[in-house]
Amino acid sequence: MATPVVNTEECIGCGLCAELCPEVFEIQDEKSVVIGPDKCDTCDIEEAVDSCPVEAITLED
Ligand code: SF4
Repeated sequence: MATPVVNTEECIGCGLCAELCPEVFEIQDEKSVVIGPDKCDTCDIEEAVDSCPVEAITLED
């Protein structure tokens, strides 16, 4: 399963990914942190990747 990775240099902490996938992402100190890399089956991770305004989320195999 693909594992989401957040580029914290790029992330602007908008919170969208945490809103879309609360099991996977959490905002900590205004950056998105991957708290549940294996929880992608409970939400639409592709939508989070596509929705990130700065394209900071990538999926790694
Ligand atoms: S959607 Fe992108 S910019 Fe917004 S908090 Fe998530 S990783 Fe950061």
